[in-house]
Amino acid sequence: MGEPQEWHFAFDFYPLQSPEHTRIWPFFQHLKEGRLTTTRCAKCSSLLWQPRVVCPHCNADAMEWVDLPRHGRIYAFTAVYAGAPLGLEKDVPFVVAIVELDGVPVKVVARIDEARYEDLKIGDPVTLKIVELADGRVWFRFVPTGKPSSPA
Ligand SMILES: [Zn+2]
Repeated sequence: MGEPQEWHFAFDFYPLQSPEHTRIWPFFQHLKEGRLTTTRCAKCSSLLWQPRVVCPHCNADAMEWVDLPRHGRIYAFTAVYAGAPLGLEKDVPFVVAIVELDGVPVKVVARIDEARYEDLKIGDPVTLKIVELADGRVWFRFVPTGKPSSPA
């Protein structure tokens, strides 16, 4: 027998990332290419976050994938010391932030790696970090701009 199965969690909104499981599978494919992307409605041009398959504004289902900036600023943040989601208990304490992406009206919730809560402040610049899990899934976090962003 091999090692015991280790579970991996990533705050992802759909743990099943392949085309047969989710119609937003290109989001995950793009992450594997180092790109944070979302959908824009092809009919009313609304930029949507999270990625959608139907526009909540006009109900159109024609979407185009667009790249989001790799950089943003901390809009709000907190730290998780206890009660972490299943699979993340070993990571405490860790920082979770709302990141306002540069130049687009999009705020995303993500973990901030390589930073302690005490060292951060609102407005700090952060840079996208792609996290690849052992089971092949992928997700995103941010790191303070200027810090190394090597994969976890
Ligand atoms: Zn629309």
